[in-house]
Amino acid sequence: MKETEALFGILKQSADVDCAAAIEDAVSNASDRDLCRINAVDFAAKHGLDEERAIAAFLHATRLSLFEMSWNVLCPGCGGVLDASSTLKTITRDEYDCRLCAAGYKPTLDEMVEVTFTVSPRVRRIAGHSPDTLPEVEYYRQIYWGSGVDLPDTLQDSFAEFTIDSIELAPNEKAVLSVQLPNEFVLLFDPVTHSTQFIDVKGEPVRERQSLAMVFNNLTTPTGTVELRPGAMTASGVIAHCKALAAVGVQHAIFNMPNVHEIAPLEVFGREIIPAVAGF
Ligand SMILES: [Zn+2]
Repeated sequence: MKETEALFGILKQSADVDCAAAIEDAVSNASDRDLCRINAVDFAAKHGLDEERAIAAFLHATRLSLFEMSWNVLCPGCGGVLDASSTLKTITRDEYDCRLCAAGYKPTLDEMVEVTFTVSPRVRRIAGHSPDTLPEVEYYRQIYWGSGVDLPDTLQDSFAEFTIDSIELAPNEKAVLSVQLPNEFVLLFDPVTHSTQFIDVKGEPVRERQSLAMVFNNLTTPTGTVELRPGAMTASGVIAHCKALAAVGVQHAIFNMPNVHEIAPLEVFGREIIPAVAGF
């Protein structure tokens, strides 16, 4: 810590004193989230600092190894970070594809590239240094989206509104996710590799299981669309399924129930399913 103190001492001499003090205070007191991919313009506005002096102070802090600078190529559609690098030199591709937006963009410095500053792990270790340990919503907030996207503190609630189901996988891990598809256009999306599969759910509901396999890797395959039928389960189907689960020792089963705002399926659940399943 002595070394860090000394470096902040140098920063106060080489950059604007107020900006340097605000940065030092943030390193000591701000949350992990606030020290990951700092947008210097946003930081200046929040702390009542001069924009250009704040940017200069962060650049000095980077030179002193207090911070790490990142050049991020952003998708103009969703605001996601398509590529991040410590130097501008590596932004060499003619076009960057966003698989979530299924569109390609020519990188333009003004609109698509942002510079952010993250506290150095030697100065303070934050969760964002190990993105794989972040909870899903924080991964989206701190790593997926660029720093200019103004995300609410209630991001978790917004996610819950439009997420049918989600699962976290370790490298090379496989999982089977069983969901009942609503009669809508659905996206299967991985925020780490940005792999996306569009699913156009239409037609008459079917009770048979429909399967779709997907591999997430760094190959930039174009986003495709498959058509699937909406799912349908009868009360007797749910009861039989629970019986099978109970037979192998499963005590808790979590169901995905689309259209929870409709009262009829809930009534069927209470009247027919719960009393039958309670006996298993
Ligand atoms: Zn996008």
